[in-house]
Amino acid sequence: MIPPAARDALAAHFGAGRYLDRPEDLTLYEYDGGVDKHRPDMVVFPRATEDVVAAVKIAGQYKIPIVGRGAGTGLSGGAIPRAGGLTISFSRMNRILEIDLPNERMVVEPGVVNLDMSLAVQGDQYFYAPDPSSQKACTIGGNVSENAGGPHTLAYGVTTNHVVGLELVLMDGRVITTGGKMTDLAGYDVAGLFTGSEGTMAFVTKIIVRLMRAPEAVKTILAIYDRSADCGRTVAEITRRAITPVAVEMLDGVMLRMVEEATQAGFPMDAEAVLLIELEGLVEQVEEQAEQIREVCMSCSAREFRIAKSAEERDLLWKGRKNAFGAVGRVSPNYYVQDGVVPRTKIEGALAHIHAVAAKYGLLISNIFHAGDGNLHPIILFNQYKPGDLEKAQKAGDEILEYCIHAGGSITGEHGVGMEKMELMGQQFPGSTLDLIRQFKTLFDPDCRLNPGKVLPTGRGCMEIHHRPLSAANTL
Ligand SMILES: Cc1cc2nc3c(=O)[nH]c(=O)nc-3n(C[C@H](O)[C@H](O)[C@H](O)COP(=O)(O)OP(=O)(O)OC[C@H]3O[C@@H](n4cnc5c(N)ncnc54)[C@H](O)[C@@H]3O)c2cc1C
Repeated sequence: MIPPAARDALAAHFGAGRYLDRPEDLTLYEYDGGVDKHRPDMVVFPRATEDVVAAVKIAGQYKIPIVGRGAGTGLSGGAIPRAGGLTISFSRMNRILEIDLPNERMVVEPGVVNLDMSLAVQGDQYFYAPDPSSQKACTIGGNVSENAGGPHTLAYGVTTNHVVGLELVLMDGRVITTGGKMTDLAGYDVAGLFTGSEGTMAFVTKIIVRLMRAPEAVKTILAIYDRSADCGRTVAEITRRAITPVAVEMLDGVMLRMVEEATQAGFPMDAEAVLLIELEGLVEQVEEQAEQIREVCMSCSAREFRIAKSAEERDLLWKGRKNAFGAVGRVSPNYYVQDGVVPRTKIEGALAHIHAVAAKYGLLISNIFHAGDGNLHPIILFNQYKPGDLEKAQKAGDEILEYCIHAGGSITGEHGVGMEKMELMGQQFPGSTLDLIRQFKTLFDPDCRLNPGKVLPTGRGCMEIHHRPLSAANTL
């Protein structure tokens, strides 16, 4: 609930067309890519850092909860205003402020769409490396907050490895900058602390990122298997032989059929699994690595080994991979994406566990994941209109994540904890670590008004919201 005086102050600052407060408009801001929902009371659209400062100060004066939002593609409920209040949508702070090729840097506002950064420098043979599959829609502000990954982060690293400086608006309205164009600046890595803080410690208003040079050669490989266990063995063997592809993605049979029907990318309809492997580097190096990978795949019982013959063929394979979630939407009214991590050597066991969980709950679960990182994305299909189906999907998801913890992995590889996995944090970390995280949080947000009810489990959070809202899910 926003007091009328606060609403008037925000409306006066932002002006017509730059805020929303009618219920029918606010509905668009009550969900993200996950399964939970809660409506904000007002949304404002800053165009500059000063607007963010104004919103933060007004919210502070009236003690209003406040949440940042990029494109709303998050998969853990990060941008959902659980306590209502004010949402700051960064979609109109979307300018590329500077391209500095000699220093291989780009300065951007948080609302810039991930792919647009690469497109802006493509002609100069540069790119921005972290490439979430949602890269045509998600924003760099959201990527920084979630420390986003993507298929190519196997070789290049995740967002934190590519963010060298940040401008932040703190909850008292102060604007601070940290890091800069140069790496290895003096003092603590404050930009590193904020990257991945899931919008719970400050607002990100400017980002300096590292640009990478485009490789001389690229090869995209499709290895096809009759047994998904052989895929797992292949990934472990590639690592054992110290070959480093830039991407190793796995799609299981259920997923393959949905993707192929939706995209006609050339994936086999009858296989149990495939690996999509990409190599980059100098021409000779890529040729040599492709031969090594062929040898590994065939020795691990691959049925077929194909190398994309043209850029078009390569793009089509990636189109299939990156549009996979959309393909699920064609066959199921709802789906729930999980994001666990296991050591690469435990991929086979994790897949067996996922099959067992699917059978236990009578749900269809398809798998698509960043196999090179052991980052699983089981996609649990369900129907929100079938009583009990969402609850079953959530329980199945929790059991898969518990397996990941016990296998020595993590409850999130790249989608964040958000409101979805906060209760599992108590299984992932000891109490002393959770207390430390809470101390960081309250250092920057002493009133606990910034994105409340996220990341920390009940009992260790602040401004707690005790129920897990079982809401209408991801209706496509
Ligand atoms: C089809 C699909 C595929 C995906 N594939 C991947 C993938 O391969 N890898 C991956 O990592 N993720 C993936 N995701 C998840 C999602 O796209 C990422 O988490 C992305 O980083 C979210 O960006 P966004 O702009 O949509 O942020 P939002 O969802 O709007 O917000 C995410 C979080 O960031 C906070 N936030 C946003 N902007 C700011 C800001 N300026 N200041 C402070 N906090 C802010 C929000 O409060 C929230 O906590 C996928 C999602 C979908 C739907």
